[in-house]
Amino acid sequence: MGTYRQTVVDLDASAEEAAACGGRGRTWLETHGYIRPVPWQDGVAYLAGPRWREAVDLASWDWRARTTGLDQEPCDELTVITGPTVFYALSGEPLTAVCPRCRNASCDWPGEVLDTWHTTGVADLGCPACAHRTSLPDWEWAGDVLAFAYLGYQFDDWPPLSPDFTAALGQALGHRIRVFAGKI
Ligand SMILES: [Zn+2]
Repeated sequence: MGTYRQTVVDLDASAEEAAACGGRGRTWLETHGYIRPVPWQDGVAYLAGPRWREAVDLASWDWRARTTGLDQEPCDELTVITGPTVFYALSGEPLTAVCPRCRNASCDWPGEVLDTWHTTGVADLGCPACAHRTSLPDWEWAGDVLAFAYLGYQFDDWPPLSPDFTAALGQALGHRIRVFAGKI
Protein backbone atom coordinates (compact mmCIF):
# COMPACT_ATOMS: atom_id res chain seq x y z
CA MET A 1 0.00 0.00 0.00
CA GLY A 2 2.87 2.34 0.73
CA THR A 3 2.85 5.40 2.90
CA TYR A 4 1.00 8.61 2.06
CA ARG A 5 3.52 11.24 3.08
CA GLN A 6 2.77 14.95 3.37
CA THR A 7 5.61 17.28 4.23
CA VAL A 8 5.17 20.90 5.24
CA VAL A 9 8.49 22.44 4.23
CA ASP A 10 9.79 25.61 5.87
CA LEU A 11 11.39 27.48 2.95
CA ASP A 12 13.02 30.17 5.07
CA ALA A 13 14.62 28.48 8.10
CA SER A 14 18.40 28.68 7.80
CA ALA A 15 20.78 25.82 8.55
CA GLU A 16 21.56 27.43 11.91
CA GLU A 17 17.97 27.97 13.01
CA ALA A 18 16.41 24.76 11.64
CA ALA A 19 16.66 22.74 14.86
CA ALA A 20 15.35 25.52 17.12
CA CYS A 21 12.65 26.46 14.65
CA GLY A 22 11.64 22.81 14.25
CA GLY A 23 11.27 22.52 18.02
CA ARG A 24 9.10 25.66 18.08
CA GLY A 25 6.82 24.30 15.38
CA ARG A 26 6.49 20.96 17.13
CA THR A 27 5.61 22.72 20.39
CA TRP A 28 2.97 24.73 18.51
CA LEU A 29 1.49 21.52 17.06
CA GLU A 30 1.43 19.91 20.50
CA THR A 31 0.02 22.96 22.31
CA HIS A 32 -2.84 23.12 19.82
CA GLY A 33 -3.57 19.42 20.27
CA TYR A 34 -2.72 18.41 16.72
CA ILE A 35 -0.05 15.98 17.93
CA ARG A 36 0.72 14.22 21.21
CA PRO A 37 4.00 12.79 22.49
CA VAL A 38 4.10 9.04 23.08
CA PRO A 39 7.07 7.24 24.68
CA TRP A 40 8.68 5.14 22.00
CA GLN A 41 11.80 2.99 22.45
CA ASP A 42 14.45 5.31 23.90
CA GLY A 43 12.72 8.53 22.95
CA VAL A 44 9.40 10.04 22.01
CA ALA A 45 7.20 9.62 18.97
CA TYR A 46 4.59 12.20 17.99
CA LEU A 47 1.22 10.80 17.00
CA ALA A 48 -2.10 12.48 16.30
CA GLY A 49 -3.35 14.61 19.18
CA PRO A 50 -6.92 15.16 20.42
CA ARG A 51 -7.61 17.82 17.77
CA TRP A 52 -6.08 16.05 14.73
CA ARG A 53 -9.43 16.21 12.90
CA GLU A 54 -9.15 20.02 12.77
CA ALA A 55 -5.84 19.77 10.88
CA VAL A 56 -7.16 17.68 8.03
CA ASP A 57 -9.71 17.65 5.27
CA LEU A 58 -11.84 14.65 6.19
CA ALA A 59 -14.34 15.04 3.36
CA SER A 60 -11.94 13.48 0.93
CA TRP A 61 -10.78 10.76 3.29
CA ASP A 62 -11.83 7.31 4.38
CA TRP A 63 -15.29 7.03 6.02
CA ARG A 64 -13.79 5.49 9.16
CA ALA A 65 -12.04 8.76 9.92
CA ARG A 66 -15.42 10.39 10.50
CA THR A 67 -16.33 7.98 13.28
CA THR A 68 -15.85 10.14 16.36
CA GLY A 69 -15.60 7.21 18.78
CA LEU A 70 -12.78 5.61 16.89
CA ASP A 71 -9.87 4.61 19.13
CA GLN A 72 -7.33 4.31 16.40
CA GLU A 73 -6.93 7.46 14.34
CA PRO A 74 -5.86 6.97 10.72
CA CYS A 75 -2.65 8.94 11.25
CA ASP A 76 0.87 7.74 11.75
CA GLU A 77 3.86 9.64 13.04
CA LEU A 78 4.82 13.29 12.70
CA THR A 79 8.58 13.62 12.21
CA VAL A 80 10.50 16.87 12.18
CA ILE A 81 13.21 16.69 9.52
CA THR A 82 16.20 19.00 9.98
CA GLY A 83 19.35 19.38 7.93
CA PRO A 84 19.87 19.97 4.22
CA THR A 85 17.14 18.02 2.45
CA VAL A 86 15.78 17.73 -1.07
CA PHE A 87 12.00 17.82 -0.74
CA TYR A 88 10.14 16.69 -3.84
CA ALA A 89 6.74 15.91 -5.22
CA LEU A 90 6.30 12.69 -7.15
CA SER A 91 4.65 14.30 -10.11
CA GLY A 92 6.42 12.66 -13.03
CA GLU A 93 6.95 16.18 -14.39
CA PRO A 94 10.37 17.10 -15.82
CA LEU A 95 12.52 18.96 -13.29
CA THR A 96 12.64 22.38 -14.91
CA ALA A 97 14.87 24.86 -13.13
CA VAL A 98 13.78 28.50 -13.46
CA CYS A 99 16.52 31.09 -12.99
CA PRO A 100 15.42 33.62 -10.35
CA ARG A 101 17.41 36.34 -12.13
CA CYS A 102 16.43 36.06 -15.82
CA ARG A 103 13.51 33.56 -15.63
CA ASN A 104 15.16 31.24 -18.14
CA ALA A 105 13.71 27.72 -17.75
CA SER A 106 15.87 24.69 -18.40
CA CYS A 107 15.83 20.94 -17.74
CA ASP A 108 19.53 20.82 -18.50
CA TRP A 109 21.23 21.09 -15.13
CA PRO A 110 23.80 18.83 -13.43
CA GLY A 111 22.15 16.33 -11.08
CA GLU A 112 25.32 16.21 -8.94
CA VAL A 113 24.25 19.44 -7.24
CA LEU A 114 21.58 17.41 -5.42
CA ASP A 115 24.28 15.28 -3.78
CA THR A 116 26.39 18.33 -3.00
CA TRP A 117 23.41 19.99 -1.31
CA HIS A 118 22.52 16.86 0.61
CA THR A 119 26.09 16.30 1.80
CA THR A 120 27.20 19.85 2.53
CA GLY A 121 24.05 21.98 2.72
CA VAL A 122 25.64 24.44 0.30
CA ALA A 123 25.32 24.30 -3.47
CA ASP A 124 24.76 26.72 -6.29
CA LEU A 125 23.70 26.36 -9.87
CA GLY A 126 24.75 28.39 -12.91
CA CYS A 127 22.14 29.62 -15.37
CA PRO A 128 22.76 28.52 -18.98
CA ALA A 129 21.24 31.79 -20.25
CA CYS A 130 22.59 34.60 -18.05
CA ALA A 131 25.51 32.65 -16.50
CA HIS A 132 24.66 33.97 -13.05
CA ARG A 133 25.23 31.47 -10.24
CA THR A 134 22.50 31.31 -7.64
CA SER A 135 22.28 29.32 -4.42
CA LEU A 136 20.17 26.18 -4.95
CA PRO A 137 17.37 27.09 -2.49
CA ASP A 138 16.78 30.33 -4.41
CA TRP A 139 16.09 28.61 -7.72
CA GLU A 140 12.48 28.06 -8.66
CA TRP A 141 11.13 24.82 -10.12
CA ALA A 142 8.30 24.61 -12.61
CA GLY A 143 5.23 23.21 -10.85
CA ASP A 144 6.97 23.64 -7.46
CA VAL A 145 8.17 20.04 -7.70
CA LEU A 146 11.38 20.59 -5.71
CA ALA A 147 12.47 22.52 -2.66
CA PHE A 148 15.88 22.71 -1.06
CA ALA A 149 15.45 23.47 2.60
CA TYR A 150 16.65 22.69 6.12
CA LEU A 151 13.35 22.02 7.88
CA GLY A 152 10.24 20.00 7.14
CA TYR A 153 7.33 18.55 9.09
CA GLN A 154 6.64 15.10 7.76
CA PHE A 155 3.16 13.65 8.34
CA ASP A 156 2.91 9.97 7.44
CA ASP A 157 -0.50 8.51 6.59
CA TRP A 158 -2.46 11.51 7.76
CA PRO A 159 -5.58 12.45 5.83
CA PRO A 160 -4.97 15.40 3.47
CA LEU A 161 -3.86 18.36 5.57
CA SER A 162 -6.22 21.30 5.31
CA PRO A 163 -4.84 24.49 3.73
CA ASP A 164 -6.05 26.49 6.76
CA PHE A 165 -3.99 24.28 9.04
CA THR A 166 -0.79 24.47 6.98
CA ALA A 167 -1.20 28.25 6.61
CA ALA A 168 -1.58 28.57 10.40
CA LEU A 169 1.57 26.52 10.92
CA GLY A 170 3.43 28.77 8.49
CA GLN A 171 2.17 31.82 10.35
CA ALA A 172 3.30 30.36 13.68
CA LEU A 173 6.74 29.81 12.19
CA GLY A 174 6.74 33.24 10.57
CA HIS A 175 8.10 31.64 7.41
CA ARG A 176 6.97 30.71 3.93
CA ILE A 177 5.93 27.09 3.68
CA ARG A 178 5.22 24.69 0.86
CA VAL A 179 3.40 21.38 1.13
CA PHE A 180 4.58 18.27 -0.70
CA ALA A 181 2.42 15.16 -0.83
CA GLY A 182 2.66 11.75 -2.41
CA LYS A 183 2.81 7.99 -1.92
CA ILE A 184 6.27 6.69 -1.14
ZN1 LIG B 1 19.49 33.30 -15.67
